[in-house]
Amino acid sequence: MRFHLISLFPGAFDSYLKESIIARAIKAGIVKVDLYNLRDFGMGKHKKVDGRPYGGGPGMVLAPEPMLNAAEAALKKIKGKKTKVLLMSPGGKQFDTAMAEKLSKYSDIVMISGRYEGIDARVKKILKAEEVSVGPYVLTGGELPALAIMDAVSRKLPGVLGNELSVEERRVSSSEVYTRPEVFEYKKKKYRVPKILLSGHHAKMDAWKVEKDGKA
Ligand code: SAH
Repeated sequence: MRFHLISLFPGAFDSYLKESIIARAIKAGIVKVDLYNLRDFGMGKHKKVDGRPYGGGPGMVLAPEPMLNAAEAALKKIKGKKTKVLLMSPGGKQFDTAMAEKLSKYSDIVMISGRYEGIDARVKKILKAEEVSVGPYVLTGGELPALAIMDAVSRKLPGVLGNELSVEERRVSSSEVYTRPEVFEYKKKKYRVPKILLSGHHAKMDAWKVEKDGKA
């Protein structure tokens, strides 16, 4: 699966992509990431990428032309493969596990990150892009949302999570996870690992996790 990340600050992706499971997936060739610096597609001598908003208000709006040129550069490379274009937006559809599952079936995903006041709305229309939000709050840029989506989709791909068995067995993802010791003592109080997790009965454990906080 190849992610095409378009951003005015592609350096924001670097450190995350270099660590742990995602780094390993990239090294193994299961996940590929192409970065597109919006500035490279800027207009004129100064490579301008933004403009003042119509109707007034603070902040700048990312102009359609550089964004579309960057998207075209990505789409030209993809040509005819099963592709999805996502636009990071706090007003978009809330990203969730079901969406991650669906997206993991694509061969290419183009993700557009905005900055400042956002992206000229015609970009969405022209690219028939889907607006996606990672939560009901406003961040300063789309890079963290793009990374969050890329991460959640990547861990759905076969071979990305270290232990092959775990893909099958960890159908239920839960925050109810424990490691040694079985009884942990902290400030004179004892904290035990739930008995069910010591039972070795996977179906029962899954049911218990679902009941707790499980996500399919
Ligand atoms: N004025 C815009 C917000 C711009 S925030 C609005 O009200 O929609 C700047 C950029 O950060 C956005 O273009 C988007 O790409 C990104 N962003 C901020 N919060 C986000 C969220 N919760 N989910 C996805 N993208 C977000």
